Amino acid sequence: MTLFWSKLAWALGLIGWFIIRYPHARRSRRTLTRRRKDPLRDFVLLAISFTGMCLVPAIYVTTGFPEFADYQFRPALAWTGVAAFALSLWLFHRSHKDLGRNWSVTLEIRDRHSLVTSGVYRRVRHPMYSAFWLWALAQALLLPNWLAGPSGIVGFGILFFLRIGSEEELMIATFGDDYRNYRGRTWRILPGIY
Ligand code: SAH
Repeated sequence: MTLFWSKLAWALGLIGWFIIRYPHARRSRRTLTRRRKDPLRDFVLLAISFTGMCLVPAIYVTTGFPEFADYQFRPALAWTGVAAFALSLWLFHRSHKDLGRNWSVTLEIRDRHSLVTSGVYRRVRHPMYSAFWLWALAQALLLPNWLAGPSGIVGFGILFFLRIGSEEELMIATFGDDYRNYRGRTWRILPGIY
């Protein structure tokens, strides 16, 4: 593995992510929304996450900027990054499949929204966010640059920690005790840890 292949692996991961999401994004646009939570706040958080996970690393991968923040490339880290990205894409695909028409980019309750508690949602309440954490980790392992590597962890971390509370509140407001019980027997993103 060389730096070129490591950068290419990151770019292929991004393309894979887009291919998985595209049909769901199309269907989502056609599904009616019943309730929306803080759309403006959500939009700002999404923009921050996009900057850290797409914009900053894409500039680095295509131009090498910012060179002053480069550090030595280590193939073993890059291979771990490839494995993390592969796992992330699998989980991203599975969580989209299990969530089906209930999925949306921003926090919303859809027409005939149902609470999903099976598949990858059986033990973890936010497997799609677990997939994003894995992606952010893969980015840090694949790109040997102190800015472009960790920017995904920072960008997605801001979205995650400022969104997770309101998302669970929205679920409780909609599904009441069903969600409280589900929350009582599951973990947020990593079974047995958090
Ligand atoms: N946080 C989840 C889903 C992300 S998509 C995950 O990481 O897998 C965000 C939308 O999913 C929110 O608008 C919310 O309405 C919906 N949602 C979250 N958890 C859900 C669940 N268990 N069942 C149905 N919809 C859910």
